[in-house]
Amino acid sequence: MDYYSNQISKLIEELSRLPGIGTKTAQRLAFHIINMPEEQVKNLSNAIIDAKHNVRYCKECLTLTDKELCPICASPKRNKRQIMVVENPRDLAAYEKTGKYEGVYHVLHGAISPMLGIGPADIKLKELMMRLQGDVDEVIIATNSSLEGEATAMYISKLIKPAGIKVSRIASGIPVGGDLEYIDEVTLLRALEGRVEL
Ligand code: ZN
Repeated sequence: MDYYSNQISKLIEELSRLPGIGTKTAQRLAFHIINMPEEQVKNLSNAIIDAKHNVRYCKECLTLTDKELCPICASPKRNKRQIMVVENPRDLAAYEKTGKYEGVYHVLHGAISPMLGIGPADIKLKELMMRLQGDVDEVIIATNSSLEGEATAMYISKLIKPAGIKVSRIASGIPVGGDLEYIDEVTLLRALEGRVEL
């Protein structure tokens, strides 16, 4: 990319590090940014830096938030005795969009994958077990229906059941290997309502 000046090349290089951004898209974005009003460029870079500085894990559910507790955990309307376990904050957002789930969440930030060398200690399982020492009626496992998601669901259910807490798994109907975040709200709701006890 020697035909661009250093600073343009640098911008293209940084943008192309982002997921899903190839060199062509990075070039297009770089030229778009250069042509944007200075004010807008400042807003964009400030938003990136502010998010990086202030966003952290919610103290309860470990989703990403800019406060100590996320809005869901902070809400008195949510049922703290029902915990839905999801792989990542995007899956949480998918279920929140249905507007029908009244419990709270637990975000694992990953799934167990022997193939990738990701074991139980590499996801937020210990934190889940800590939460279960409080008053909890039901844990709904809503990990993806991929191999990793299923392995994680099995592992969690084996871990929790001896504690005498009800453990359920969202129903199939979610296509195998399907990422929750890409599934429509009706299907998500049906999966939640049709959940089966493990
Ligand atoms: Zn939270």
